[in-house]
Amino acid sequence: MIVDFIPVCRPLLPAADSIAAYIVQIDGCRHYTNRGPLVGALEQRLAQAMALPDGAVRSASSGTSAIEIAILANAGIARPDRPIALMPSFTFAASAVAVERCGYQPCFVDVDPAHWTLDPDTILHHPLLARAGLILAVGPYGRLPDMRALEALQARAGVPVVVDAAAAFEQVLDHPAQISATVPITISFHATKTFSTGEGGAVLWRNDEGQDRVVQAANFGFLNSREARQAGVNAKLSEYHAAVGLAMLDGFATRRTDYARVSGLYRDLARDRDLGGTLHLPPDISSAYVLLETDTALGMQHAKQALHGQMIETRRWYEAGVHVQTHFAARAANLLPVNPLPVTKDLCQRLLGLPMAPDMTAGAIARTLDVLATAHQSVAQPAAAQARR
Ligand SMILES: *Cc1c(COP(=O)(O)O)cnc(C)c1O
Repeated sequence: MIVDFIPVCRPLLPAADSIAAYIVQIDGCRHYTNRGPLVGALEQRLAQAMALPDGAVRSASSGTSAIEIAILANAGIARPDRPIALMPSFTFAASAVAVERCGYQPCFVDVDPAHWTLDPDTILHHPLLARAGLILAVGPYGRLPDMRALEALQARAGVPVVVDAAAAFEQVLDHPAQISATVPITISFHATKTFSTGEGGAVLWRNDEGQDRVVQAANFGFLNSREARQAGVNAKLSEYHAAVGLAMLDGFATRRTDYARVSGLYRDLARDRDLGGTLHLPPDISSAYVLLETDTALGMQHAKQALHGQMIETRRWYEAGVHVQTHFAARAANLLPVNPLPVTKDLCQRLLGLPMAPDMTAGAIARTLDVLATAHQSVAQPAAAQARR
């Protein structure tokens, strides 16, 4: 029997005809990048959608560059007396890449098992805090960390905090009070995220001077001249990417309904099936993901193999954590004591990304869950039979 392949992620961005009118505007004014009118309009409409003052949303050319410019604006590049960044390993590699590009040596800290994020108290008592010039918190899978606790951490530790909440677009839209005046949040507009410009990102910060430094950092460190006055990079979103973003915003209410339908189906169809674990779904996490948290690490291996055998793709979005990836593992071993990260290891062994797309069909969802239920039954029942003997 030939079965259809189900991809783990199938992005759907605005069609050409819905972008066309914006592209015509670009043709008309010949302003292609360097904060043109479409970038201005996108930032303004995003700020309005989050009930933020103008200027509290600043765009970037990617989620990764948004992290970089937020670091440069809030902490600056690493200084010799404070070369370390305390950050989780439970994240996508981009978080550590951005930290390193700003000159910091990542020091990976374990996460809290309930929230999957850094525990501010652990950071406050970390033995390397006095050598840290940056704390990079992460909102994994779109789960926003407790921003008030991070504001307090920044104030008490005297170390700048930046939050990589790359996948948390819906969460900040629904909880704009979480957007801080002191701690910047960064978002990704990558095609795999819920709101996309193809490539792109943004810094959310209710801080006019801070956002001026974000804009300056995104443009080579220039401010009202062509002289680099602070550390910078080219992180500017082009007008073409902004056009995609504006078209995406035009259709975003429909997109949210589509996502709610798919996650609702997952929730309903999972109810009467024993999957050997629990599903994590929006609004707790981003609509870009459906995560199966298996009861055991072995359960995840079985689930993965069974799905792949039926042409259903899965992904461990954060792999085994950043700290074991060859580049970071080698750098960390040379410079810092290696910390055991038991919670990170456990989560990475038990969290499996299942297929998700705004137009995923009920049939594809049922097929995915049926394969999981059957796989769980085949390993659970022999074990139960053995226990009865
Ligand atoms: C997607 C993602 C990024 C990177 O965003 P890009 O837009 O791809 O550069 C960074 N951190 C996390 C946690 C992400 O999920």
